[in-house]
Amino acid sequence: MSAGCVLLAAGRSARMGGGDKLLAPLAGRPVLAHSLAALAACDEIAQVIIVTSAANRAAVARIAASCGGGKVRALVTGGAERQDSVAAGLAALSNVELIAIHDGARPLVEAADFSAGLEAARELGAAIAGAPLIDTVKRVDADERVLGTPPRAELRAVATPQVFRRELLERAHRAAAADGVSATDDAALVERLGEPVVVYPSRRRNLKITTADDLLLAESLLGASAGVQRAGIGIDAHRFKAGRRLVLGGVGIPDHEGLDGHSDADVLTHAIIDALLGAAGLGDIGQHFPPGDPRWAGADSILLLRRTAALLAELGARAESIDATVIAERPRLRPYIEAMRARLADALGLELARVNVKATTAERMGALGRAEGIQAHALANVRVTLRNGATDG
Ligand code: MG
Repeated sequence: MSAGCVLLAAGRSARMGGGDKLLAPLAGRPVLAHSLAALAACDEIAQVIIVTSAANRAAVARIAASCGGGKVRALVTGGAERQDSVAAGLAALSNVELIAIHDGARPLVEAADFSAGLEAARELGAAIAGAPLIDTVKRVDADERVLGTPPRAELRAVATPQVFRRELLERAHRAAAADGVSATDDAALVERLGEPVVVYPSRRRNLKITTADDLLLAESLLGASAGVQRAGIGIDAHRFKAGRRLVLGGVGIPDHEGLDGHSDADVLTHAIIDALLGAAGLGDIGQHFPPGDPRWAGADSILLLRRTAALLAELGARAESIDATVIAERPRLRPYIEAMRARLADALGLELARVNVKATTAERMGALGRAEGIQAHALANVRVTLRNGATDG
């Protein structure tokens, strides 16, 4: 069953004491970027609709472009209540059979949380993330007098993702709208229909950012599992060759001869791939994409970069930042630098500020100075986490 996600990012931040919690920095990127990166990494989710506020629209669009993995289909403006926002998001999703609803203020969600919810909902129709309560719960009256103690074993604290068969969720929203009923989560609307809803395990760390203290807590949870940072370098050079198309950093540069090579000879992207592989201790580009392999003949090197990111992800590693320099006597590269950064950042799921590309010349010295070809140097910082025993720390 095809699946999509409505990512809620329209909430006001009443309890944050100024500033918008979804745009607040958390471990180097905005809170919202974390959920988007988890969605980008979840293979089962094909499309994402972000429900945002008019005020945040431009900022959310930038985050979507750099962290959405190309899955964000639309930004829609939220309604007065959470329920209206979900309805607006639902209307914008095209043909998917399963819909995950996720609160953008829960940045510690992982791709596996979405996968688990989708699997349960595929079978049962409605599945919501929840965890047993740690604290004992009391019911109280308006004067804080205790009325009773509900049995803790029967209670679950529920979160998002909440995943539903589309038909069921749409029916629940229609019924609620017709009856003028509102609820604080989507499951409650499905429960009203008398349809079954099942709780699947949510991790305790999938917390909701509500106060400034929650941000500190999330930051320290991320820091505790942050692993170690490794650096890698990559250097590549290709000769000019008449009749070839020039591609650098995934961007086609018109009106200039290209570079000779087995793939598209994108020397900048190759240097970055080598830097990433180096940082992760995975050898070099030739081992992973052999020049004789017919699969890579004329290949778009951005695809190789995406595959490299996937290789790193298998080890629990991910790129944190890239800095690169292209040495070219000609053509003039400045007009293309921003487009290169955008393509490279998109392929790596990084925000734009973490991908830097510079261009320089060799001052007419040596082979590069005689414009026989182009050389690129790259430095990659890679975060290697302790998952899967991928690091010796
Ligand atoms: Mg090369």
